[in-house]
Amino acid sequence: MSVYQAPLRDMQLLVEQALHKSGLANCSGLEEFDSDLVSAVLEEAGKFASGELAPLNTVGDAEGCRFENGRVTTPPGWKDAYRQFCEAGWMGLALPAEYGGQSLPKFIAQPVNEMWLSANLAFVMFHALAQGGSEILLHFGTDEQKQRYLEPIITGRWTVAMALTEPGAGSDLGALTTKAIPGRDGSYLIKGQKIYITYGDHDMAENIVHLVLARTPDAPAGSRGISLFAVPKFRIGNDGRPGESNDLVCTGIEHKTGLHGSPTCSISYGDNDNCYGELIGHENRGLEAMFVLMNEARLSCGMQGVGLGEAGFQRAQAYALERIQGTDAVNGGGRTAIAHHPDVARMLLSIRSEVMGLRGLGYLIAALIDKAEHTDHADERKTLQARIALLTPVFKAYATEKANLMAGTTIQVFGGMGFVEETGVAQLMRDARITTIYEGTTGIQARDLVFRKIKADGGEALLHLLAEIDQDTEQFHADNPFGPHLRQNASAVRQAVEIINSAANHSLALNAGGVPFLEALGKLCCAWQLACTANTAIKREHENPQYYRNLRALADYYFAFTVPHIAAHLTTFRHADRGVAEYRFEP
Ligand SMILES: Cc1cc2nc3c(=O)[nH]c(=O)nc-3n(C[C@H](O)[C@H](O)[C@H](O)COP(=O)(O)OP(=O)(O)OC[C@H]3O[C@@H](n4cnc5c(N)ncnc54)[C@H](O)[C@@H]3O)c2cc1C
Repeated sequence: MSVYQAPLRDMQLLVEQALHKSGLANCSGLEEFDSDLVSAVLEEAGKFASGELAPLNTVGDAEGCRFENGRVTTPPGWKDAYRQFCEAGWMGLALPAEYGGQSLPKFIAQPVNEMWLSANLAFVMFHALAQGGSEILLHFGTDEQKQRYLEPIITGRWTVAMALTEPGAGSDLGALTTKAIPGRDGSYLIKGQKIYITYGDHDMAENIVHLVLARTPDAPAGSRGISLFAVPKFRIGNDGRPGESNDLVCTGIEHKTGLHGSPTCSISYGDNDNCYGELIGHENRGLEAMFVLMNEARLSCGMQGVGLGEAGFQRAQAYALERIQGTDAVNGGGRTAIAHHPDVARMLLSIRSEVMGLRGLGYLIAALIDKAEHTDHADERKTLQARIALLTPVFKAYATEKANLMAGTTIQVFGGMGFVEETGVAQLMRDARITTIYEGTTGIQARDLVFRKIKADGGEALLHLLAEIDQDTEQFHADNPFGPHLRQNASAVRQAVEIINSAANHSLALNAGGVPFLEALGKLCCAWQLACTANTAIKREHENPQYYRNLRALADYYFAFTVPHIAAHLTTFRHADRGVAEYRFEP
C-alpha cells in the first residue's frame, strides 16, 4: 500500500461544508458540478496521487536535483510523472477549457491540490505557478499574449517561474534592481540577477516562461516603480513554437534543508544585453499583477500545510496502531499499541484536529472565490473579495506554522524511528520548514493582516466574519456544546480589533503583536470550522456512528486543548511591546 491514501470521506464532507457556508450551494450555473462529479474527480486524483506521485516523494528527497554544465536535471521519474500529470489534464483542472483546461471550479480543484501536496510537495511546486501565472495572463495579458502563452502553459508544454526575489530584495520587493530597457519594437531588454526561483530551470517541459519583476529606466523608487514582464527561456517564433535561446542562464541551484526534488535556481538575465521580455499589463503596475499569482501561491502554500499535516497523520496513526510498547495505564491489561496511551492519542488528535479545521478553512476560501466569480451583484462580490483577502494571510501563515508543529509531532509519535531517515517522516519536517518563509514570511502575513486587511477598512471585513460566526452558533443543534465558546472567543477578537483601529501605525505593540494576533484568529477560524463539522456529525451520527462520533470528539479535543490558547495569544498581543521595547541588541 502507498504511504498516502487520499482521505476522500473527509474531503467530500468538507467540500459540502464549504459549499453550504459560502452560499455556493444555492448558486445557479454550477448544477453540473454535483456530488457525483466531485466524487469521480477526487477518486481519480486520489489514485494518481497515491499510485504515481507518492512513490516518487522519497526518491526526490534522496536523489535531489542536479546542476551540471549549466543544466538542471530533476530526480529520476520526475519527467515521466510530469508527462502523465499533464496528459491526464491535471495541470489545467481549474483553468479555462478555451485554452486547454477543464474549467472546473476551485472548490473541486482545492482538495485535488491537497492530494498532490500530501503525496509529493517538491514535485508539484510547478502547479500553483502555472495556475497563478495563467490567471495573471487572463487578467492582464493582451489578446495576443493570451493566445501565445495560455494554451502551452495550461496543457503543461511550458511551465511558469515566478522571478521576484533578488539578493537585496526578499520581503521588501520595493528594493529590487533588475532593469527593463524599452526597445523600439515594444519589447524590453531585461538585465539583473534573481535568486531562489522555483523551477526556474528544469528538464521537464519544452519552455519556461519567467514572470519577472523589473524596473524601467524612469520608474519611481520603491514598489510603485515595478513592472511585470514575460521572459521565455526560449524565444517564441512566429509559429508559436520555442526557438532560439533567450539571454538568460541558470547559474546554480541551492542545496536546501528540504524540498530536494524541487529545483531552486539562481537566474542571470541579460548577461549579453539581449534578454527579451514583454510587458504584462502596464508599466509600474507590476506588483498589482503579480499579486494575482502571489495570492494563488499563498493559498496553495496554506494547502501545503494541510497536505503535509495529513501525510504526517496517516503515517503516525498507522505506526501508533502497530508499535507495541508499555501497558495500557487507563484500561489495564497487557502490553499495548502506543496509540492507546492517552498522551500518544493526544498527539494524534492534535494533528488531525488542526488538519480538519484548516482543511475546512482552505476549502471555504476556494468556494468563496468561486462565489465571487459567479455572483451578479457588485456589492456581494466586493464583500466576498474582502473576506477572501482577510482569510488569505491567516490561512497561509497559520497553516504553515502548524505544518511545522505537526511534522514535529509526527516524529514524536514515531520516537527514535522518527528521527532516523529510513521511516521517511523526517522529510516532512524538512519539507515543511520553508512553507512559513516563501510566498511571504509569517511576519509579513501578520503585517498584511493587521495593517492592510484590518486597519485599512476599520476592521469591517473581520467584524463581518465574527458576526457570521456568532450567527452560525445560533443555528447549532441543541446537542452541539461549542456555540458559547465560539461566541466568547469571537468577542475577545472583536475587542482586539478596537485596539488595532485605535493604535497608531508605528505603535510598537501593534508591530510586535501581529503574529500572536494572527495565531488567535487562525485558531478561532479552525474552531469555527470544527464546530460546524461537529454539528453535521451530530445530525448524521446514525449514518456512520463511529466516523461521526470521532468528528465530534475531534472538535471536543480542539476546544479543550487548543481554543484556550486564543485568550493567551490575545493577552500577548495587548502587551506585545513588553521586553521588545527595553531590550537593546549588543553587537
Ligand atoms: C525553497 C525556496 C523557494 C523559493 N521560491 C521562490 C520563487 O519561486 N520566486 C521568488 O521570487 N522567490 C522565491 N523564494 C524566495 C522567498 O520568497 C523569500 O526567501 C522570502 O520572501 C523571504 O525573503 P528573504 O529570504 O530575503 O528574507 P528577509 O526578507 O531578509 O526576511 C528575514 C526575516 O526578517 C523578517 N522581515 C523582513 N522584513 C520585515 C518587515 N518589514 N517587517 C517584519 N519582519 C520583516 C522576515 O519575516 C524574516 O523573518 C524562495 C525561497 C526558497 C528558500
